[in-house]
Amino acid sequence: MLMTVMKKLTVLLAATLLSVYLPAQRGADSQKANAGRQKAEAILRQMTLDEKIGQMTQVTLGVVAAPEDGVLNPSALTKAVNQYKVGSILNVTNHALTVEQWRRVITQIQDAAGKNRLKIPVIYGLDGIHGQTYTLDATLFPQSIGMAATRNPELVATAAKITAGELRASGVRWNFAPVLDCGRQPLWSRFPETYGEDVYIGKTMGVAAIRAYEEDGLRRPTAVASCMKHYLGYSASRTGKDRTPIYLPEIELREYYLPQFRAAVQAGASTLMVNSGEINGTPVHASKYLLTDVLRKELGFKGVIVTDWEDIIRLHTRHNVAPTPRAAVVMAINAGIDMSMVPNDFSFFDLLKEAVQKGEVPMTRIDDAVRRILILKEQLGLFDNPYPEEAATGNFGKPAYQTVALQAAHEAMTLLKNDGGILPLARTTHVLVAGPTARSISALNGCWSYTWQGKDERWYPAGSKTILEALQDRLGASNVSTSAVKGFDDPANYDTAALKTAAARADAIVLCLGENAYAESPGVIGDLALPDAQVALARAAAATGKPVILVLSEGRPRFITNIAPLMKGILLAYWSGRKAAEAIGDVLLGDYNPDGRLPFSYPRSSGDMVLYDRKPTEEVREIFNENMTMDGYKPLYPFGWGLSYTSFEYEGLQLSNNKLSPSGRLEVRITVKNTGHRDGKHTVELYTREHYASITPNMRRLRAFKKIFLKAGESQTVTFTLDRNDLAFVNAQLKTVTEPGDFDVMIGDKKAVFTY
Ligand code: BGC
Repeated sequence: MLMTVMKKLTVLLAATLLSVYLPAQRGADSQKANAGRQKAEAILRQMTLDEKIGQMTQVTLGVVAAPEDGVLNPSALTKAVNQYKVGSILNVTNHALTVEQWRRVITQIQDAAGKNRLKIPVIYGLDGIHGQTYTLDATLFPQSIGMAATRNPELVATAAKITAGELRASGVRWNFAPVLDCGRQPLWSRFPETYGEDVYIGKTMGVAAIRAYEEDGLRRPTAVASCMKHYLGYSASRTGKDRTPIYLPEIELREYYLPQFRAAVQAGASTLMVNSGEINGTPVHASKYLLTDVLRKELGFKGVIVTDWEDIIRLHTRHNVAPTPRAAVVMAINAGIDMSMVPNDFSFFDLLKEAVQKGEVPMTRIDDAVRRILILKEQLGLFDNPYPEEAATGNFGKPAYQTVALQAAHEAMTLLKNDGGILPLARTTHVLVAGPTARSISALNGCWSYTWQGKDERWYPAGSKTILEALQDRLGASNVSTSAVKGFDDPANYDTAALKTAAARADAIVLCLGENAYAESPGVIGDLALPDAQVALARAAAATGKPVILVLSEGRPRFITNIAPLMKGILLAYWSGRKAAEAIGDVLLGDYNPDGRLPFSYPRSSGDMVLYDRKPTEEVREIFNENMTMDGYKPLYPFGWGLSYTSFEYEGLQLSNNKLSPSGRLEVRITVKNTGHRDGKHTVELYTREHYASITPNMRRLRAFKKIFLKAGESQTVTFTLDRNDLAFVNAQLKTVTEPGDFDVMIGDKKAVFTY
């Protein structure tokens, strides 16, 4: 009793304190924001044209530093920071630097900026895509495609917070993440950087990351400014080749690609990077419609818009829409760009200055851009202290981060096939580990891993494990043999005869296939087929008669349709970062019960690239006007697929009402039972389908999900709340609407109907 009273009192006290504190805190925050704006305004009033244009200029570190070790070249630094007064520097030289090297680099840059008349600090930006890419020993998590498989936004947020801390400890306060491009074209070389094919997952995970990067307030030594990218439609290139034309009707753009950015703006993302590509023939960097009308006016984005790499000059040199380099600058700045990632020279500065002097770019546009940049710097606390902060040092490399990296890798692992319960393997199994990814670290991490391409294993932390080592650790070296060698491309890894010989002693073969690391254009391929040599290896492994477990480390789905039937088990490991090998080992041996769910439809073949949220005409195929076969959506594994070592059953799907009103809410309840013999996590996914609508409705759309943990035999009732926004779609007039009609709610094998 006393305890209850005490508890109540504590809650009351906390509530009272909060109610006093929150408005006061909010007041203080908005006072600070006002002060920031006033400060920016005051500085802006004193600035010369050169100083303003300098702020809009961003160069790469290579312009001011030696390629190998990032050591700054004093005269190059003076030229960039004092002569051209650049407002921002980005990127790394050849490879990641130590925390200490970064802190030195940033300190020297800010020292130089401090010598300028107005002492405006430089803002430094890096690509912390799946952890802090460019600091040696930083914690790397699964790529976003793997994080999407976890269906765990809290985990996305925790990983983002760690990334922010490690960036800030390195003296860097701007992160070019998250990638909000929707992964609906698996050929695209940046598919691994996406959250997969679904809009709702993209929005949920993107917002979780942004809030985590920024939530403490940008001034705090645990935060960084996020950069949602790449606005807009970048992932939808027609051929899948990076930076090639996108043809996208606006209805599709608004249905599948824009909502993630709208949600990110609402979540308070501070900055945005523009898509390097062109949509329907208009390069996005030249699109006043997308940058100003949609982004600024419709979405209400107030932050900084930065270009992607070299993308202004490319309006002239590649897209051929600007007849001269200056015309390119005029086009981009007038379209709404605030900062140019030039990044290799100062041409932008000179050209923009000329354009302003000739009256081709109005001073109001320049002031608008510079004001936003100054406000961002003020919000980040750079005017108070531009140097690496002492208070941030402790945010690097905490041992607990490795636990989070392991949890993320565990939850990403997606078990696609487990014939006859071949997995988990018994501890006494003698295993042959074969294939090109068996002894690779880069193929477990992928792009943006200590180098841009992630391929150079010299820069990975000591102690990074391979799949072979993880299995040796778990089974004992004497129980593991291998035909694999180091080096993804080494011909010995594809030697089928060697595999056959080595398999003689084994009870099972763990065949490690997939993709070595790649990023952006170097990752362009002409075919999703798995290379012939890997297919041959799979066939050879199966021909030994031993059970084969395929472990796929890959950034995008490579076709395995021809070999999947030969495999007893298939584990999709994506590129899961620093702890990928340990997570793979744990799943194979049953120390972790897998719960990852596919964030994309694993395609069967190039003619069957239908996505899960397909239209009715993709579902039903008409044959001679009479036979209808329901085979339109037949990926090898569907979106949401993922096996467990236990089993879950659903019962009692209940709606709070069979009608939803425009201002109402609908509760959807379902009971999930773990009917197997192992504890496990499980994601409950809620889909809806509208029966009839003014444009063809999707066959299903994911509207909500919840991940739960159930002990063997345990049940739990999960509740979702829907409102009309959850049922909306973009109509023929390009408006997001919810139309009256009947809707299915689908969870697992259960279905209910309600009317809106
Ligand atoms: C990529 C961006 C990245 C930038 C800076 C570009 O090539 O497209 O995603 O932020 O480089 O590294």
